[in-house]
Amino acid sequence: MRGEIKRNHYNVCIIGGGITGTALAYFLAKLGENSVAIFEKSYLSSGSTGRCAGGIRQQWSTRSNVRLAMRSVKLFERYKEDVGMDIEYYQGGYLILSYDEFEAQQFEQNVKMQREEGLEVEILSPRQVKERFPYVNTEGLVLATFCQTDGHANPHKAVIGYALAAQRMGVDIYTHTEVLGVDVQNGSVVGVETSRGYVKCNVVVNATGPWSREVGMMAGVDLPTESYRHQILVTEPLENFFPMMAISFSGNFYMRQTMHGQFIMGQGDKDEKPGINYNVTFKFEKELVEKMVKVFPFLKNLRVIRHWSGMYNMSPDAQPIIGQSKKVKGYYYAVGYSGHGFMVAPAVAEALAELILFGKTLHTDISYLDVERFSGRVIEREKNVV
Ligand SMILES: Cc1cc2nc3c(=O)[nH]c(=O)nc-3n(C[C@H](O)[C@H](O)[C@H](O)COP(=O)(O)OP(=O)(O)OC[C@H]3O[C@@H](n4cnc5c(N)ncnc54)[C@H](O)[C@@H]3O)c2cc1C
Repeated sequence: MRGEIKRNHYNVCIIGGGITGTALAYFLAKLGENSVAIFEKSYLSSGSTGRCAGGIRQQWSTRSNVRLAMRSVKLFERYKEDVGMDIEYYQGGYLILSYDEFEAQQFEQNVKMQREEGLEVEILSPRQVKERFPYVNTEGLVLATFCQTDGHANPHKAVIGYALAAQRMGVDIYTHTEVLGVDVQNGSVVGVETSRGYVKCNVVVNATGPWSREVGMMAGVDLPTESYRHQILVTEPLENFFPMMAISFSGNFYMRQTMHGQFIMGQGDKDEKPGINYNVTFKFEKELVEKMVKVFPFLKNLRVIRHWSGMYNMSPDAQPIIGQSKKVKGYYYAVGYSGHGFMVAPAVAEALAELILFGKTLHTDISYLDVERFSGRVIEREKNVV
């Protein structure tokens, strides 16, 4: 993957080797387009993907996110068979806990909409939560929702699986190769300048996660995203007994158990300032650990073994920004996932590959997610984010 650039022209140059870039390369190649290169400035999954919790949930407050996530779940369910790798995908459900009356009412509205979309979601009282999940302390809980087909997977494996399958179909992947500029002539993309030389192309895709705004500006495409640090930690393992991802927006936490037994957990911090920052703080560890031990008392004697941080690439309405530039022909983008890009990336990549090759999408409508929505259209903010 580190070798010299093999060709001086590719039809499609993808910038970024996270879940978006590798999944897109896979879907393009699967649809017959194998003149594709991925340029990744570091190693595959070194960005947000390799730092994320791997949660895959369909319970969203906006219809567009529900649809993207439901299509992605269909693709995750077939991943092993289609892509050829076991990515530890497990549909143990998502338990969403509400500690706030107003939020609980909102959840009831969300569930109504999710059911209209065909998703099977349960509303659980605190007593039902205790019966089903006796190891959860339900003190202060107003209600919960649960969707059994939600789940989680190993993000590193998902990236490597897509990358290897794409390579088998002819895609070239260049790691440790930074894109330094996008060459636009007469309003069209004609090439990219990389740290290993210039490559001509007809299409450029910005799949650069936290760096999406800067890489957009390389072609004069203004993508209104901002990146914020999110910290996350993992404990030593226990025997597996916790099948679901537990999450709370009002409680500000999420947690799941990996197939190796460790608990991965995190919370948001409203005081974070925008900008790339991979440091970690003791404040995060202290706050999170104190809170989590109350909700999940079995964590009490477990040791934290690692703590790291990654970036949420936020959009103004906390929904992804996906589409093609109206200003620069051949410039496409899939960015601004606002903390849920791993789970929707398969559907996004499939739709973007169709848009690039056929000029329209066949499975999931993404037209309302383009950047033009921020200049005039009514936008709906996604509320279900930590
Ligand atoms: C702590 C944390 C927990 C999360 N948990 C979840 C979760 O449970 N579920 C979920 O769905 N999402 C989660 N997310 C969000 C998820 O990680 C991201 O939305 C998703 O990984 C975005 O993938 P991507 O491929 O678009 O971007 P990235 O994975 O960030 O990949 C972008 C890549 O572009 C490369 N790049 C940037 N600029 C250049 C350049 N100029 N030239 C070449 N390469 C370049 C970077 O090196 C990087 O590897 C979480 C995020 C964090 C930080």
